[in-house]
Amino acid sequence: MSLSEIFCQDRAIGSLQRAYAAGRMAHAYLFAGDDGVGKGTTARAWAKMLLCENRQTIRKDPLFMDSCGVCHSCQTFEAGGHPDFRPIYKELVQYTKEGKNKKTPVDMPIDVIREFLIDKVANRPTMGDFVVYVVDEAEKVNRNSQNAMLKVLEEPPHYCVIILLCCRLDEMLPTTLSRCQLVRFGPVEQTKIVERLVSEGISKSEATYWARFSQGSLGRALSWATLELKDDSTYAIKQQLLEKLASLELTDAVDMAEWMGKSARTIAGAWAKAADDVSTTDITRRAQKGLIQMVIAALNDVMKLGIGQTDELVNEDQKNCIEAIRCRYTGETAARHVEMCYQVHRWVDSSVNEKLIFEQLLLNLSNSDILLKLTDSSI
Ligand SMILES: [Zn+2]
Repeated sequence: MSLSEIFCQDRAIGSLQRAYAAGRMAHAYLFAGDDGVGKGTTARAWAKMLLCENRQTIRKDPLFMDSCGVCHSCQTFEAGGHPDFRPIYKELVQYTKEGKNKKTPVDMPIDVIREFLIDKVANRPTMGDFVVYVVDEAEKVNRNSQNAMLKVLEEPPHYCVIILLCCRLDEMLPTTLSRCQLVRFGPVEQTKIVERLVSEGISKSEATYWARFSQGSLGRALSWATLELKDDSTYAIKQQLLEKLASLELTDAVDMAEWMGKSARTIAGAWAKAADDVSTTDITRRAQKGLIQMVIAALNDVMKLGIGQTDELVNEDQKNCIEAIRCRYTGETAARHVEMCYQVHRWVDSSVNEKLIFEQLLLNLSNSDILLKLTDSSI
């Protein structure tokens, strides 16, 4: 993809272009914004432009430069093997000296940062003027690794461009922040996400659901809405989830937990097929968290209806289910359930057993009055 094809991030790209035009291009960037808003896509397109052998002036005032798409560099880039484009992600751990057969951890391993960034920055470009490093999930680079990176962020060689992608600025050390040019990526407008999903063949009401569910993250909306499942669709799963919630009884909780586990594995399996360089642990967690977020969205809708706010429901397409759930809970109970959902959501990252997560969630939800004692020490 080229810079001019990127969707709805004109402000972020404009700030990159202005600095470039003024000859003040940074060599260390921090691209900050929610997951799926286009940080990674922009980083790749920016890298492709810098590496291009025949950069194009798309517009003069204000200057907008882009890659040509046809030169040797652009073609190598698109084929995925450009020697001067170095994406850095935690799954690289298995290619580190000590990392053979290591499972991908939740945090970015320091060995990856050391062996794929710090030890490599002295290597000069092999094809063009630059070497571009893009560090994915920089918020998962822990304190020690961030400290280890400071020197290369402070004084990268003139041919180096380092881009950190980050969803949570609060996880970054002030020393890291001060060495990088911050580029903020805002949420994508809901109508634009709907438009895009509809252009992918998704129905309007389904597209509206995913756009609201994804809260401005086009990437997240696309990855849910366009996922091809073998016997079902993610949308059919969400519809069944709400129907099941609407009629949930204590005696159904264990069966429904099993169904949620199975659904999470189906979704994760399909995602894994679509992206083979991401760890399956991460994908499974993402699917489990997504299903919990669907429950949270439903409970938030219940609370909205409770205060008479009927527009912009995430589950506008299943208002009858939201009404049915509302009959079971008071606004206060729904709020407490949301809190409980966030707690089990956190358990997912702590590698708690999937069965336990969904059973705790549903045993609680099936019990409209009494909330089971749920503490992190109970896991
Ligand atoms: Zn080119």
